Amino acid sequence: FIRFDRISKRFGANVVLDDLSFSVGEGRRVTLIGPSGSGKTTILRMLMTLTRPDSGTIRVADDYLFHEERDGELVPAGDAHVRRVRSRITMVFQQYNLFPNMKVLRNVTEAPIHVLGRSREDAAARAEELLDLVGLGGKLDSYPSQLSGGQQQRVAIARALAMDPDVLLLDEITSALDPELAAGVLDVLREIARTSDITMLCVTHAMKFARDVSDQVLMFDGGKIIEAKPPAELFEAPEHERTRSFLRSVL
Ligand code: ATP
Repeated sequence: FIRFDRISKRFGANVVLDDLSFSVGEGRRVTLIGPSGSGKTTILRMLMTLTRPDSGTIRVADDYLFHEERDGELVPAGDAHVRRVRSRITMVFQQYNLFPNMKVLRNVTEAPIHVLGRSREDAAARAEELLDLVGLGGKLDSYPSQLSGGQQQRVAIARALAMDPDVLLLDEITSALDPELAAGVLDVLREIARTSDITMLCVTHAMKFARDVSDQVLMFDGGKIIEAKPPAELFEAPEHERTRSFLRSVL
């Protein structure tokens, strides 16, 4: 469903992704782990077309996001492809970036109304459902500043889901939260994973969550994926010394 083919990316002399290929099937839950700076966020940003690779091809379903021609030249995909991919994928960031001047309900309805062209009533009905799902049915009329960090992050999740994405990208969404609030956010995601068939790519240091929710864990180091396994295998019997030392440092 999502396919990275021979993707390379450097920032100056810093080679962040080195001839990287992997794919994620539709409806799969994949967690990206690895040391800081190993390129995990860069992968998600490429899917959002916020960062472009130096070479290689990225496909989502039948559409190209970036496409490398035979002579090695990188050809950006046509606008129609990019628009289709952008309409399928949403991302939740570490900093929830809610609109501070809008109440919770409007934070969630804004994009469906203005981007998807939904009616105000339909968007509000769906937003109320999603805010219920994330445990915030009672906070529709609050402003973000009146909510805890964990609650704000749950609004951000509802806002992402309101776009009816096929793919949800989660970038260290609990790193700014204290453990109790983080646990609440992860519970919400477990529930979403259990009750939907959305494809999830998740960068996290929350290993228990990775273990509970993902089908596959990709361990990044040195611009490559050095180990890709179901979580039970990867956590219980890591093959590489680099994976073992990384897991020792985060568990
Ligand atoms: P972390 O767990 O710390 O978020 P990560 O694995 O997600 O790390 P990335 O954020 O993908 O790593 O960054 C990979 C490398 O690319 C880092 O060394 C980072 O400094 C560098 N980098 C990312 N974006 C830029 C940029 N716009 N300009 C220069 N360097 C960048």
